[in-house]
Amino acid sequence: MMRTLMIAGYGMAGHRLAEEVLALDADEEWRIVILGEELYPAYDRVCLSGYLDGRSRADLMLPGRDFLQHPRAQLWLGCPAVGGDPASRTVRTADGSCLTYDALVLATGSRPFVPPVPGHDLPGCFVYRTFDDLDAIRAHARPGRNGVVVGGGLLGLEAANALRLLGMTPHVVETGPHLMPAQLDRGAAAVLHRHVTGLGVAVHCGTATVSIDSHPARTVRSVTLSNGTVIDTPLVIFAAGVRPRDDLATALGLERADRGGFLTDKLCRTSAPQVWAVGDCAAVGGRCYGLVAPGYRMAGSVARQVLGLEAEPLEDIDTSTTLKLLGINVATFGATGHQGAMEAAFAEDTRYAKAVFDADTGVLLGGILAGNTGTPTTLQPFIGRQPPADLEQLLLPA
Ligand SMILES: Cc1cc2nc3c(=O)[nH]c(=O)nc-3n(C[C@H](O)[C@H](O)[C@H](O)COP(=O)(O)OP(=O)(O)OC[C@H]3O[C@@H](n4cnc5c(N)ncnc54)[C@H](O)[C@@H]3O)c2cc1C
Repeated sequence: MMRTLMIAGYGMAGHRLAEEVLALDADEEWRIVILGEELYPAYDRVCLSGYLDGRSRADLMLPGRDFLQHPRAQLWLGCPAVGGDPASRTVRTADGSCLTYDALVLATGSRPFVPPVPGHDLPGCFVYRTFDDLDAIRAHARPGRNGVVVGGGLLGLEAANALRLLGMTPHVVETGPHLMPAQLDRGAAAVLHRHVTGLGVAVHCGTATVSIDSHPARTVRSVTLSNGTVIDTPLVIFAAGVRPRDDLATALGLERADRGGFLTDKLCRTSAPQVWAVGDCAAVGGRCYGLVAPGYRMAGSVARQVLGLEAEPLEDIDTSTTLKLLGINVATFGATGHQGAMEAAFAEDTRYAKAVFDADTGVLLGGILAGNTGTPTTLQPFIGRQPPADLEQLLLPA
């Protein structure tokens, strides 16, 4: 008899899982029911900013026609899962349906974190996660005016670029001492800072957003920072990090990790039988990743388990990032925050590279790159080995 895999959440990880299951299910034993909260099929969220730069929804859509017309894949779009019962293997949807499953995978992603500053909910405040968010930002944009982005990480810089594309002057506010404090050190951030300010992005680091101030009509008028700066603006985008969407944990009686997310073991198994979690919402071994590559690894592993195939536990999840932000390359590879490590940094005006070594053995642990440097692909093979004699040349090629 045909069995049912239910996937709650149709984003990047959920789609990858469905594709893998269809590809591996040689005996055609499984049908897939996908519950999606958004009204559209999964899309490439990593390239979401392209939507404000000439790419259409269709360009960014992940499933092809074959998938959308697949006889064993059923999409329920605009129909989120709201509850269920792992004991009777049922899921309830927002439209009141009660569906049964043989295997359930939670792939509900994450939501933007909005700091509770006064005025954060005024008309004119936005987040940056979905097509709908970008449509709302586009509709509210006022060319020639300032736009404020709260958060100077990857998302914040993407949002700043979006405001540039919409003809506004972006101001990025970051509480940390420099841009992208979670990934970059001061040297790499300085190169990034010079590059983005050269493009007209104003950067305010080491200061916090104190309040979003409004007109009498309750629309955004300005943003006040803790250093006393007041930025006149009609539009604010919050890009201050994400939180795993684990609301279903309560409804399904599943364990959460201490810092949120469906708690899973290294095989992405939650605390209920036949229920897995993948992608941003999964706290694998207690940790959420918020990056697409780990989500894809989880999807690959769970697809095999659902089909009864052997799957490797997810050890050593790679959190290296390679980004192109406003036209500049920024990357980290391997481990960069190792205690007691040795470092060698090479800095020029427009580029920067740092290699991190184990202080005892001298082996390469990882590094940080900004600007026109060597790539993680050329450097990664040396991780765990003695660095080559021409390391500087690899980091900063002539
Ligand atoms: C602008 C932007 C740029 C990014 N750039 C990078 C990058 O360069 N590199 C990188 O690694 N990562 C990047 N990311 C992060 C990356 O997009 C995520 O890691 C990835 O999308 C996670 O996939 P997911 O399927 O877990 O979650 P999502 O893609 O968020 O999909 C989850 C889906 O589940 C839906 N959902 C939620 N609850 C329910 C429910 N109860 N029932 C049904 N559906 C539900 C949501 O509406 C959503 O559609 C970026 C993100 C953004 C927004």
